[in-house]
Amino acid sequence: MTSLDKDETGAAAGPETPTGDPLIVLDGVNKWFGSLHVLREVNVAVDRGEVVVVIGPSGSGKSTLCRTINRLEPINSGSITFDGRPLPAEGKALARLRSEVGMVFQSFNLFAHKTILENVMLGPVKVRKEKSDVARDRAFALLDRVGIRDQADKYPAQLSGGQQQRAAIARALAMQPKALLFDEPTSALDPEMVGEVLEVMTSLAREGMTMVVVTHEMGFARHAANRVVFMADGQLVEQAAPNEFFTNPQSERAKDFLSKIL
Ligand code: ADP
Ligand code: MG
Repeated sequence: MTSLDKDETGAAAGPETPTGDPLIVLDGVNKWFGSLHVLREVNVAVDRGEVVVVIGPSGSGKSTLCRTINRLEPINSGSITFDGRPLPAEGKALARLRSEVGMVFQSFNLFAHKTILENVMLGPVKVRKEKSDVARDRAFALLDRVGIRDQADKYPAQLSGGQQQRAAIARALAMQPKALLFDEPTSALDPEMVGEVLEVMTSLAREGMTMVVVTHEMGFARHAANRVVFMADGQLVEQAAPNEFFTNPQSERAKDFLSKIL
C-alpha cells in the first residue's frame, strides 16, 4: 500500500501514516450494513497527540467510522490497530480497549439514576477496580477541570445540556483513555451551550489528548484540529491541515459541502 493509492473518486486517500507515532491505524477498512456499503477502503492513521476532525454530509459514515475504532461496530474487511495491536474481538481485551478509547456521544448517555459524581466514578470502580476513595478524588478533580464540581451530587436531568456533556467528558476522562472519540458532541445542545463544551475540548486538545472529533463546528476544526478528514458516501475523500482544507479543498464534493455550510 502506498500513499499514492487513489480511491474511486480519483482523490488520494493516503497518507496512511502522516507523521510521528500512530496510535490508531485503519487500513483498507470496509463495512457493510446489509447491502449498504458504509465504509469503503478507508485508510487513515491518527498519531499520538493528534486531533483529527471528521466532517462530511449526513449519512457519509462518520459515526460508523468512530464506532469501528472502539469496536462498537465490527468491520467486514481491512484492519484496525490501536496502540500497535489489532482490535480485540471480545473478552477482557475488548473491555480494556473500550476503556482506552473513550467515546462522547451527541446524546450525553449519562446514567439517569446516578448522580454526576457516581457517573464519573462508575467506570474506574467497576471496570478498572479502583478503590472508591481514589476514584472519588479523581472524579472531583475531573469535574473541577470541566467546570462542574459544584454539580457533583445532582442527577443528569437537573443539569443543562452543556453541563451534562461536560460531565460525559469527565466520565470518559476518568478511565484515563489513550484516545477520545467525539461524535457530534455539540449537535444536541442549545447554541449558547456549544461554546462551553468546545472550550473543554480545545483545552484537552492543547494538553495533547489524541482526539477524533466528528463535528460541524468549523471554528473548532480551524483552531483545534491538526487535520481535517472529509468523508462522503463512505469514502475518505480528502484530508489536509485545516487551513489548507478550508481555503483550498481539492475535490468537488468537499467544495460543494463547504459552500453549503460556510
Ligand atoms: P453519519 O454519521 O456520517 O451521518 P452514519 O455512519 O451514521 O453516517 O451512517 C452511514 C450510513 O449507514 C447511513 O446510510 C446510515 O443510514 C447507515 N447506518 C448507520 N447505522 C446503521 C445500522 N445500525 N444499520 C443499518 N444501517 C445503518
Ligand atoms: Mg453521525
